[in-house]
Amino acid sequence: MSLGWLHPSRWSVRTRSAVAAAVVVTICLAIAGAVLLLVLFRSLEHSAQDAAAARATQIAGQLHGESPAQLDQSLLATDSQIGAVQVVDERGRVLAGSNGAPDTALVPQSLPPGEARDLGRVKGPDGAFDYWISGLGTTSVAAPVTVLVGADREPVESVAEKVGVLLLVGSPAVVALVVFGTYSLVGAALRPVEAIRTRVASISGPDLGRRVPVPPSHDEIAQLATTMNAMLARIEAGQLAQQRFVSDASHELRSPLTTISAALELAQGRPDLVDAPLIDESLLPETRRMQHLVEDLLLLARSDEEGLEFQRVDVDLDDLLYGEEVRLRGIGSLRTVSRIAPCRVTGDRAALQRVVRNLVDNAARYARSTVTLDCRGVDGDAVVTVSDDGPGIDPADRERVFERFVRLDPTRTRSSGGTGLGLAIVEQIVRSHHGTVTVGESADGGAVFTVTLPLTQPDSGGPEDQPSSTSR
Ligand code: ADP
Repeated sequence: MSLGWLHPSRWSVRTRSAVAAAVVVTICLAIAGAVLLLVLFRSLEHSAQDAAAARATQIAGQLHGESPAQLDQSLLATDSQIGAVQVVDERGRVLAGSNGAPDTALVPQSLPPGEARDLGRVKGPDGAFDYWISGLGTTSVAAPVTVLVGADREPVESVAEKVGVLLLVGSPAVVALVVFGTYSLVGAALRPVEAIRTRVASISGPDLGRRVPVPPSHDEIAQLATTMNAMLARIEAGQLAQQRFVSDASHELRSPLTTISAALELAQGRPDLVDAPLIDESLLPETRRMQHLVEDLLLLARSDEEGLEFQRVDVDLDDLLYGEEVRLRGIGSLRTVSRIAPCRVTGDRAALQRVVRNLVDNAARYARSTVTLDCRGVDGDAVVTVSDDGPGIDPADRERVFERFVRLDPTRTRSSGGTGLGLAIVEQIVRSHHGTVTVGESADGGAVFTVTLPLTQPDSGGPEDQPSSTSR
């Protein structure tokens, strides 16, 4: 038969707690009981010995004026502490003694007058008596005598024995009470844990909306339940986001694929219909669109999986903005205002260029007439703003605009260019560069996107050295 269950690691927490409490209480009771018995015994012993010494002093006092035969009987009487009294002469003869005291001297020793001494323990034959002897030398009627008083050990031992038995009988009851109390209390404390465990075990993929019960207490278990619920909420949100991402991505890819496959089916039956306009206006743009979309999706999927890994080189944001300014000028229909100061950050040039380009493309798309580019160093950060005088973004949408596949303008469809991934990619890249991106309202009532990135050289740029230019 296996005795593995005897190992504490196989026990439940309740059992382990109860056994640990039992062991601790037993050890404490044993130590406390031993100390109590010792202290009790010593104190009773001292009290009996003090009583014996006091009696010897009293007897010596009376012997100064009287002979041993004239001693008060009360001084020779025994009680619960004093077992025997003797007055012996120098040769050890007993001159006076208490009732029942032996005829011979309890101790074969006489003391010179005035000397008091503890003469040790004396046992009678066959355990007839057991005394601690106090001796006192004195003079009685001009002859030296020794007063011997025996403090009885038996009552002291009997009291100590009784207390010992009481402790032995009472301790198991105390230990049993502690075991019962600990087992019940730990069981009650762990009941919510079992409820949490059962609920977690029953939560599976489809019902991530369920939560574990939070006990009404404000203890560690309530905190554990709250933390678990927060974790479940995060897992649920992650799962929903993933589902939405997959369904949005499929939806976005379906349209160009439909166009391309329709064209190919047409080409299969009527190859002559596949002419240059069809290729240039439909097939190639849809293929490119799909290619960009897949690249964007891959970038976002990679950033979800393991975070984006970028080069870390010095990048001059002002150069990137100048490049965009030149590009905008090429479009020609928009006025570009730029206030660009040198701003160097550490990061991936291509990724940061993509950030600037996405923001400038959006600004150019929505601007009525003017796009403003701004770059400067503020408190150790490079602050890039791209603003326009377009319709702006409603405050309620300013956070969700960075979510994937969010397109605020219902009139702008897929065919007009946007996939709703541009700002999500901006946000991911900026975050991977330890920066932030926010959107607000520009001075012209349009949108202003602000990107903040840590500067490589904190002293580069500054409000005072901002060159300014305007172009059309
Ligand atoms: P899209 O590819 O659709 O432009 P983005 O992620 O770049 O996707 O932008 C998401 C949405 O945010 C856009 O569809 C548009 O509704 C809104 N938006 C972005 N930039 C601007 C802007 N400068 N002014 C107004 N709306 C904007």
